[in-house]
Amino acid sequence: MTKVSIKENSWIARIASKKLGGTGAAIVIGKTIHVWGVSREKFLGNKRWVRHELKHVEQFEQHGLLPFIAKYLWHSLFLGYHNCCYEKEAREAEKDEMIIAKYVFADNETLV
Ligand SMILES: [Zn+2]
Repeated sequence: MTKVSIKENSWIARIASKKLGGTGAAIVIGKTIHVWGVSREKFLGNKRWVRHELKHVEQFEQHGLLPFIAKYLWHSLFLGYHNCCYEKEAREAEKDEMIIAKYVFADNETLV
């Protein structure tokens, strides 16, 4: 099982939220889910959202930290956020009931 942490009030997620619109945002870097505009409890209560972000954690594991950031930016810049294949994969994972079982949430650490 992979350990994942949640960072609340993250400035990185705040930037993402401004870019994408909406009131709350989450962005994954390595094994940390950065959230803004949403509490840890509220985020964890939204299973589809949790599955979506865990898929990104899995993508980071598959590609490696910096390669994934580079690939993700490349794809989303040229294809757009919605058409980015990593986002498509994450949207598919929202229905995947098994993905949550592969991860455990740490209390208050930042894991990369
Ligand atoms: Zn996503």
